[in-house]
Amino acid sequence: MTSLSDKYCVIGNPIAHSKSPEIHPVYARQTGQDLVYERCLAPLDGFAATVQRLVAEGYKGANVTLPFKIEAVQACTRLEERARAAGAVNTLVFANGEIVGDNTDGPGLVADITRNAGVAIAGKRILLLGAGGAARGALLPFIQQGPREIVIANRTVATAGKLAEDFGRYGIPIRGTGFADVAGSFDIIVNGTSGSLAGEVPPVPPTVFGPGALALDMMYGSQPTVFMAFAAGHGAVARDGLGMLVEQAAEAFAIWRGVRPDTTEVFKKMRP
Ligand code: NDP
Repeated sequence: MTSLSDKYCVIGNPIAHSKSPEIHPVYARQTGQDLVYERCLAPLDGFAATVQRLVAEGYKGANVTLPFKIEAVQACTRLEERARAAGAVNTLVFANGEIVGDNTDGPGLVADITRNAGVAIAGKRILLLGAGGAARGALLPFIQQGPREIVIANRTVATAGKLAEDFGRYGIPIRGTGFADVAGSFDIIVNGTSGSLAGEVPPVPPTVFGPGALALDMMYGSQPTVFMAFAAGHGAVARDGLGMLVEQAAEAFAIWRGVRPDTTEVFKKMRP
């Protein structure tokens, strides 16, 4: 028998590790929404064709994960501003013959910091480590919270400079630099590098961690990351990227279904 539930999936390669199929069914049950959510493995050279197939099969939307977030921009017929600013798409909506691209990674990060960690971004000094897709996606949502200043530090300094230039027009002081040249202390430090995957801490001076600063690593796992240990060792409150993951999923769910789930249950389930 064919299911009449609305269909969604997460597209990636590899895809077996994705936690999204554990999250969305909980949100659906919680909000009384009738949907199924699956994993979709797309060939490395077949992202656009996979999206076309999903549309033809009547899917209502999809999440996009590595390595397709940037390529997904080209597959869309329309982009929301935050996806355009991020230069990357993690959420697709298939409706009225359109493929609409959005990016909920940055809003998820902001929601985790402001709601879950209870730390306001307005008026704060922010240090963003990394200038890749995730860091780029965080910038507009951060700027919209009205921080006092944003410093972007990256291994490839020119990329940090370019990012600062691209986002300078929003009226918040923002500059790019190298890790070793970061001066002063910050209220919120976000590690958006993939260094933690290799057990590497961006070599910033430990003085970047202001008293009681929030240090958030976008990466997550069963153990605290090396960056979290470094930050906690210098007086910061360390947090990993699980809350960001759960919140970006809630934001995507809200875009698709028009109802915002409560993330507490999923957060507890994934970290008992
Ligand atoms: P990208 O590949 O787009 O960017 C990687 C960034 O990390 C670049 O700035 C790169 O610098 C830097 N980098 C890589 N290796 C090192 C190193 N050894 N030391 C210092 N800097 C390094 O990756 P993404 O932006 O997509 O992802 C970044 C991280 O964020 C990953 O760990 C990912 O898992 C996590 N993430 C978490 C999410 C969540 O929901 N929690 C969502 C999205 C991402 P350079 O420019 O010099 O190459």
